[in-house]
Amino acid sequence: MSVRVRFAPSPTGPLHMGGVRTALFNYLFAKKHGGEFLLRIEDTDQTRYVPGAEDYIRESLAWCGLVPVESPWVGGPHGPYRQSERKDLYKQYADKLIADDKAYYAFDTAEELDAMRERLKAAGVAAPAYNAVTREHMQNSLTLSADEVKARLERGDEHVIRLKVPRHQEVRFEDLIRGVVVVHSSNIDDKVLFKSDGMPTYHLANIVDDHLMRITHVIRGEEWLPSAPLHVLIYEAFGWERPAFAHLPLILRPDGKGKLSKRDGDKLGFPVFPLDWLDPTSGEKSSGYRERGYYKEAFINMLALLGWNPGGDVELMSLDEMVKHFDLGRVHKGGARFDPDKTRWFNQQYLRMRPDAELGAQLQATLKQRGIDATLERATTAASLLKERATFIDDMLEGLYLFTTGSPLNGNAEGEAELKKRWKPEAAPAIEGYIAALTASSATSSADYEQVFNGVLQFTGMKVGQVMPLYRLFVAGRMQGPGMFDVSALIGRDEVIVRLKAGLDICRAWA
Ligand code: GLU
Repeated sequence: MSVRVRFAPSPTGPLHMGGVRTALFNYLFAKKHGGEFLLRIEDTDQTRYVPGAEDYIRESLAWCGLVPVESPWVGGPHGPYRQSERKDLYKQYADKLIADDKAYYAFDTAEELDAMRERLKAAGVAAPAYNAVTREHMQNSLTLSADEVKARLERGDEHVIRLKVPRHQEVRFEDLIRGVVVVHSSNIDDKVLFKSDGMPTYHLANIVDDHLMRITHVIRGEEWLPSAPLHVLIYEAFGWERPAFAHLPLILRPDGKGKLSKRDGDKLGFPVFPLDWLDPTSGEKSSGYRERGYYKEAFINMLALLGWNPGGDVELMSLDEMVKHFDLGRVHKGGARFDPDKTRWFNQQYLRMRPDAELGAQLQATLKQRGIDATLERATTAASLLKERATFIDDMLEGLYLFTTGSPLNGNAEGEAELKKRWKPEAAPAIEGYIAALTASSATSSADYEQVFNGVLQFTGMKVGQVMPLYRLFVAGRMQGPGMFDVSALIGRDEVIVRLKAGLDICRAWA
């Protein structure tokens, strides 16, 4: 049987990065086994529907390159892929369970349910539930006469359909990540499968759809593990073969304390969403990795390693390489701690791998937003010099001095303070000598500058360490950055001379 997996998000808000990881692991598993990855929108709970969420899910997956073969957008042989459009289909399955004595009608009102819970609490029951024991004392088709049930249904009395969970049964299944899971049925309540509003609950719709869509493996977050025994019982009630289960580990906050939740938003200093999200009701904005300047390759590479260890020291992987290495058996069950520094590190690695021309074009666009026009050639050379220190394209703005004219020390208090610490009048003749030699030269390449500079050092008997920092501060206005000969070649001789002279003037004014 060929592998078919699905990502089944509910459109209740922006997709959390944990959701993207679930989609990614499903995708990797499908590709690894030559199978199919599909997307189903689980929107049976209309009260939690958030406009825009569905499109956000689509756009996030598209950005990451996780394209499902079947989905609400492209359709497919097992559609529709939006549960609200499959509404009419679920009732017959609930009815079938009733006919087979695997489910029953329950007519209890909210007050009756409350009273039941109060009664049980008073009797010392810690977690009161509607189950194999308590159902005996409630208003349902197991306790009422057949005529009464018929009459109530015909009258249109409000009712739900509940699963008839067996009283004594060990529910056992093998999770591909966690091993054998055993839960006694006495710990499972008679969950509602069909609601009084005519809609199925998540549990019923999810199982009916996984069955009809021929899903072979259910790969989802750990938060669904407690529901899995119930799902096993529903499969048994239908007499259907069930898919294999794999519950992925939680993603923990960087301090390891608890799960990284949607509510963490930007509060911890990093985004928890793939894309920017504007909440339609509150107007609150949450930032996304894409808009923060992350490469999608870095984002999914980081996500892939949250819970999966490919073995060896493999770390940087393209989507194709991930597919090659992927193995659910190497996904661990313990929570995976999210590391924002590591995430930045991934971006830095991917940035460095980009061709200079591409980085140049991105830098050119970034400069343009700040009102600076640079040729592509110049931006590309600058990018090649600046990329070593950059994690994001925006970090290259450190090298703004490569695109401006005049002394970078003007209005630069930090640079000036640094210069004050380093300035030694003994170095002035060497700088003057360098200015004179450059003026007489026709220096254009980095090697030209190096040659002239070394000649001046030799003549004056000064050391690199005595002159270079001043050269750097005069021309770049900061101590960090690419080599000064490369910088000078990019800036051009006339501009270098202007800056060196201006620097000397500033220092002399202090004397
Ligand atoms: N609709 C569920 C969710 O939002 C799907 C859980 C599952 O994959 O079964 O996560």
